[in-house]
Amino acid sequence: NKDVWEYVNQFADFNNFINSPIARYKDKLYNLPFNMNTFYELWGTITPKEAQEKIEAQKKEFFASSGDGKTPRITNLEEQAISLVGKDIYEILIKGYTEKQWGRDCKDLPPSIIKRLPVRFTFDNNYFNDRYQGIPIEGYTALVQKLLEGIEVKCNVNFLDDRHGLGSLASKIVYTGCIDEFFEYQLGTLQYRSLRFKSENLDCPNYQGVAVVNYNEREIPYTRIIEHKHFVFGKQQNTVITHEYPQEWARGTEPYYPVNNEKNNELYEKYVELSKLHPSVIFGGRLGMYKYFDMDKVIEVAMNCWKAQQSE
Ligand code: UDP
Repeated sequence: NKDVWEYVNQFADFNNFINSPIARYKDKLYNLPFNMNTFYELWGTITPKEAQEKIEAQKKEFFASSGDGKTPRITNLEEQAISLVGKDIYEILIKGYTEKQWGRDCKDLPPSIIKRLPVRFTFDNNYFNDRYQGIPIEGYTALVQKLLEGIEVKCNVNFLDDRHGLGSLASKIVYTGCIDEFFEYQLGTLQYRSLRFKSENLDCPNYQGVAVVNYNEREIPYTRIIEHKHFVFGKQQNTVITHEYPQEWARGTEPYYPVNNEKNNELYEKYVELSKLHPSVIFGGRLGMYKYFDMDKVIEVAMNCWKAQQSE
């Protein structure tokens, strides 16, 4: 989104980093997102036609038992994944990763989670389709510092501990915490997924050769290892890596992802109804809007919200 790109470029210079993660499954490596390289690594297929036929055959076999086999009704993540990439990729690169990431069976997860990922019949390992991509060269901390320049900031203050006192400071409040917590869980608790990070500083210049390696086997407890220097082409003699361990969220721990299944989405809509009684509060972000936003999308939504406020 050009507007978003121009907006963030006021606060930071961005490099030309392109995310091309590697998936590891039982000591074999595969390119992501799912593309001609992945299909070649898995099946040895050379042309897009061969890869498409392979996927089509696996999809047909899977859906043969349901409906007419031609136009399957997609109701969950498993069906969505098989319909996009076939059974092999589903079993090797999706099922284990997804079930540990979300702590739920793929049959109990919404198709939308997997629809985020591109499937391409070209040799292209760029994880995103976006025209403008990059990482702020001085890091996100510098970007946020610049964004907040000249603005009074109070850290370590829980808005909910003093909602009346803090609320009286402004005519509009942007609330980016969990919407159900704002309403003291009065209609029920929404589900979130959390993460635990384990970081290490290693005495070697290059641990994995890429910023992100996904570990797609169910048996390995972490989903990915991030090697931070590769985001900014670092030349240090050492390297910092982070293992990401998914975990269930419980009240009092940090929520990272909304779990957008039907039940949670319905409950969220009820909170939206309730929020209409608080027109001075704008709920924003992954937690306030209970949506699995990427950061560019969240900025776009915030910019649109600002425009809507201006014309109010
Ligand atoms: N996914 C997968 N295998 C992979 C990478 C992703 O099955 O190797 C699935 C998984 O369900 C994941 C979703 O695709 O939750 C979205 O992945 P993405 O990389 O966008 O997740 P994020 O970076 O937001 O954690």
